[in-house]
Amino acid sequence: MNMLTGSCLCGKIEIEVPDDFDYMGNCHCSQCRKFTGSDYSSVGGLSSDKFRFKSGEQYVSIYAKSPETELAFCKCCGSSLFSRKLAGGKHNIRLGILDSTPSHQPNFHIFVASKAPWFDINDEHKQFEKGPEK
Ligand SMILES: [Zn+2]
Ligand SMILES: [Zn+2]
Repeated sequence: MNMLTGSCLCGKIEIEVPDDFDYMGNCHCSQCRKFTGSDYSSVGGLSSDKFRFKSGEQYVSIYAKSPETELAFCKCCGSSLFSRKLAGGKHNIRLGILDSTPSHQPNFHIFVASKAPWFDINDEHKQFEKGPEK
């Protein structure tokens, strides 16, 4: 399996995942918008047991967004790294941290009902008002 690497802006944190995402999509919820500072968040999801830190795990800060969901970011540079779904056992990797190119691309939009009012979706990918949440 081809492995993908990713890192935060300051480079202290490096991660590795197989090029084997279960899904890849764009989330337009207001919480992703806050957390990433971007119009929407592109994420790829895979089983948490496929996720590995290569270095810098001690620089990871965890924000418990809810009992179900943890958000991870770099305590040095603030880069948003991933969300972790505790019950579902999934890591949703922020695609922006990848340093290598995955073989899949985001192919759906979720939470379009709460998308940024200034952003227009201009592709043909499937849109969901809310979930599906895994
Ligand atoms: Zn960093
Ligand atoms: Zn979201």
